[in-house]
Amino acid sequence: MSVSTTWTESISGAVYVGEDIPVAYRTDRSGYVPSSAPEVLVVAADVDDVRRAVILAADAGLTVVVRGGGSGLAGGASAGAGSLILDVSRLDRILEIAPADELAVVQAGVSAAQLDAEAGRHGLRYVPDPASVAISTIGGNIATNAGGLRCVKYGVTGDSVLGLSVVLADGRLIHTGRRTAKGVAGLDLTSLFTGSEGTLGVIVSATVRLHPIPVRTVTVAAYFADVEQAAAATAAVLSARVRPSLLELLDERSLREAQDFLGVRAQSAGAFVVAQTDGFGADAEARIIESTFGQFTSRVLVGDDPDVADELLAVRRSALPALERYGRVLIEDIAVPRTRIADAVRRITEIAERHRSQIYTFGHAGDGNLHPIIVVPPEDASAERRASDAADEIFATALELGGTITGEHGVGVLKRRWLERELGPDALRVQRAVRAALDPSGLFNPGKV
Ligand SMILES: Cc1cc2nc3c(=O)[nH]c(=O)nc-3n(C[C@H](O)[C@H](O)[C@H](O)COP(=O)(O)OP(=O)(O)OC[C@H]3O[C@@H](n4cnc5c(N)ncnc54)[C@H](O)[C@@H]3O)c2cc1C
Repeated sequence: MSVSTTWTESISGAVYVGEDIPVAYRTDRSGYVPSSAPEVLVVAADVDDVRRAVILAADAGLTVVVRGGGSGLAGGASAGAGSLILDVSRLDRILEIAPADELAVVQAGVSAAQLDAEAGRHGLRYVPDPASVAISTIGGNIATNAGGLRCVKYGVTGDSVLGLSVVLADGRLIHTGRRTAKGVAGLDLTSLFTGSEGTLGVIVSATVRLHPIPVRTVTVAAYFADVEQAAAATAAVLSARVRPSLLELLDERSLREAQDFLGVRAQSAGAFVVAQTDGFGADAEARIIESTFGQFTSRVLVGDDPDVADELLAVRRSALPALERYGRVLIEDIAVPRTRIADAVRRITEIAERHRSQIYTFGHAGDGNLHPIIVVPPEDASAERRASDAADEIFATALELGGTITGEHGVGVLKRRWLERELGPDALRVQRAVRAALDPSGLFNPGKV
């Protein structure tokens, strides 16, 4: 395809065509690589660029794949033949911080880490904290409705979004939502675009909630004999009606690998759980968690020393990089009702044995959101196929236990064929109708979700 001078004259950012498009733009961090190459890459410099690129793509018969940080784990930003990649990561200005209203207005390319740091100067913070805060964009976090460690108390990304500015398939710019703490005028279009994975429009800016930085944070960690005990203890904590600000679990294998990776003295255990409490009631809540954990194990640690907290959290944060030492990792992302966590982990262990796959499980126990990580060693020729079969059984297990195939990473390309099984044909038809109403010619991310 030849890019006419109209393109380069119309777009004030950068335009790349064909083989000039850097290879990294073909996909995200999912490992999925389309078999063909995208046609055009537009790196938008401003909102006008986004509008023009959408209109030019439609006129040229190209589809549009919106891209933020490219850190997605579902193949949502992957782009093949006939597509234009619209990179919005350079729309990276914090437009406003309004401390009295506890909100910020940011362009889509701002990272959560960047906003959190800026909010900190006002005694506030931006709470959504996917582990990819530094490499993803808030636009992408909203498009995937990303989760993170703090969800158990503060909710997912969508719970922090008050309003959006979105470029539609015909190039119009609309504004959804509001700046007020409440507001119910009309259908909730903000929620509709949240989690839409680039299929309904291009999010160019967002109005988001900020929260006070907690006055105090206390960390409670515990080593358990097995996952059953750990899962029972986390369920008991939540039944005690305390709200930890994070509640994370590692199985025995993940714990061992994370400790080895960090080079710290190994604490052998069947499972490890780390919790934090924050705010004015942090000490009182931590005491309840300590005594609840104490009903299941004698190995409980409590403290408010930030260095010790960092060390304990480092174990959780290192679990993934520790496994990446052994080959390609498939990062799965199921969620089950919190009361079924032990069943899920037990069934995942059986699946691993059946498919002779190396599966390590850790995740956000407070949300019932587990990340079974399947390691595909490079020297094992059939490992890829066995891993894929194991992943299928893991999704089936999640649904059988009353859960979901994706707690936070999204459907993208990789989980498309599982979507109908989870939603059912009627709900899927409604979703398709919504998509057709907003994007009748199928411009945005066709073949995804
Ligand atoms: C090391 C690592 C850790 C991670 N940890 C977490 C975690 O803790 N929790 C979690 O939920 N996820 C996590 N992820 C997954 C990923 O970071 C999130 O899905 C993130 O929200 C994607 O943001 P992004 O800007 O990189 O989006 P991209 O990967 O660029 O795009 C993701 C999807 O959103 C669409 N999109 C992107 N920007 C826009 C926009 N402005 N408007 C409309 N659509 C858009 C794309 O088309 C695509 O479908 C992790 C990934 C990695 C690599």
